[in-house]
Amino acid sequence: MGEHRKGAAVTDLDDWYRAYRTVYEDASRGRTVACPHCGARSLRLLFVVRNQDDEDGTAAFWCDACLHGLMPTRAPVPPTGERYVKGTESVPDYSLITGD
Ligand SMILES: [Zn+2]
Repeated sequence: MGEHRKGAAVTDLDDWYRAYRTVYEDASRGRTVACPHCGARSLRLLFVVRNQDDEDGTAAFWCDACLHGLMPTRAPVPPTGERYVKGTESVPDYSLITGD
């Protein structure tokens, strides 16, 4: 953040991972951390689980404003994480950020 590198993509994947970790640790930060792509404070992180009490889920992390986000990955559901049983989640068809 704030660092300029020649040839860097408009969106830096590292910034996304940093934002992900922040919101992962405290879900309430989703409304305070700026989206690395558009700057909006509308990041969403939710976990899709097969059963309500599963420890692991598929983490979907995206920005509600510009609809960009990370490729969903398996992760343990953190204490403050929003969890949805598969089929009940509402995740938009967002564009995946890739590291090239
Ligand atoms: Zn955004």
